[in-house]
Amino acid sequence: MSLTDTLGRPLTSLRLSITDRCNLRCHYCMPEDEYLWLPREDVLTFEELTRLADLFGQLGVNRLRLTGGEPLLRRDVPTLVAALSTRTWVEDLALTTNGVLLADAASELRRAGLHRITVSLDTLDRDRFRRLTRMDALPAVLNGIEAVRRTGFPDLKLDTVITRGDNDDEIVPLVEFAREAGAEIRFIEYMDVGGATSWRPDAVVSRQEILRRLSDHYGRPEGIDRDSAAPAARFRLPDGLTVGVISSTTQPFCRTCDRARLTADGVLLLCLYAQHGTDLRRPLRAGASEETLTNMIRAVWAGRADRGAEERLAVRGRGAYIPLSVLKKDAHLEMHTRGG
Ligand code: SAM
Repeated sequence: MSLTDTLGRPLTSLRLSITDRCNLRCHYCMPEDEYLWLPREDVLTFEELTRLADLFGQLGVNRLRLTGGEPLLRRDVPTLVAALSTRTWVEDLALTTNGVLLADAASELRRAGLHRITVSLDTLDRDRFRRLTRMDALPAVLNGIEAVRRTGFPDLKLDTVITRGDNDDEIVPLVEFAREAGAEIRFIEYMDVGGATSWRPDAVVSRQEILRRLSDHYGRPEGIDRDSAAPAARFRLPDGLTVGVISSTTQPFCRTCDRARLTADGVLLLCLYAQHGTDLRRPLRAGASEETLTNMIRAVWAGRADRGAEERLAVRGRGAYIPLSVLKKDAHLEMHTRGG
């Protein structure tokens, strides 16, 4: 029987953050000049990551996503992918990347057994990309997307965070880009999590507004039946193209959340809004048995009651969730540490 939490949510998906470092400084995630990084010696080795992942597999996880920070900043990611892709419990092995280093990595990742790639892409305008991420890297990202296509990865996804006044005029061009790239685009509402220290309600472009803009251009999008645990609600445009919307801010979906998160230094987190996690690195390195570690994970999930995004929705006068002064003292509160 699968492991469920206090709200009956099964544990089926694990997001492994393999580094807290990132080469971009996206305005909604890492807007500061300086960060407190995880100590290098705390970052789990591939062997440690794989051992912990296996325990989650024993408890019912069958979908695994590598994320970060920017996962491709970690050396030899294909070696990790190769180790994970041979696990019988892994039915779906995906990677989320900003795409900057993807062009050189795509074919090796495919050979290593990676199933799918999601590329984050917020704009098609080179100057805007540089302004929003503080790196002149749009050509590299586009090359990365092309490399994924050439390599023959199925199910390419593009994730776009829409923020008002920054890229909300690119909804249609991005849909057309995805169509050309043979990808499914998913528009993500701007969330007030972690490093989003400049978050304000009026910068959020809601699912409703995104759908209205799509409707104005293409005609009314039709809802497609939802895979119950997937974060994106999917819609079909009248011309048959499918797009997704991840409405974590205005229409959260906590009740179907089946995701656990492991930071690069082995802290188990559940909700993106969690203030605390459970350190698995210390017991792992102290020689705890598989059974002890599995029991720890089981107890954390069985006791889970969080509904972070739904609770945030009820807050009046909402602003950034974690004040900068608090973020500066605890790297685990950052989105780039917990993996998004
Ligand atoms: N570096 C990788 C990437 O860019 O995809 C993986 C890590 S990144 C933290 C994962 C996802 O979180 C990205 O799609 C990013 O756009 C999203 N993200 C970060 N901060 C966000 C925020 N405040 N609101 C919504 N999405 C956010």
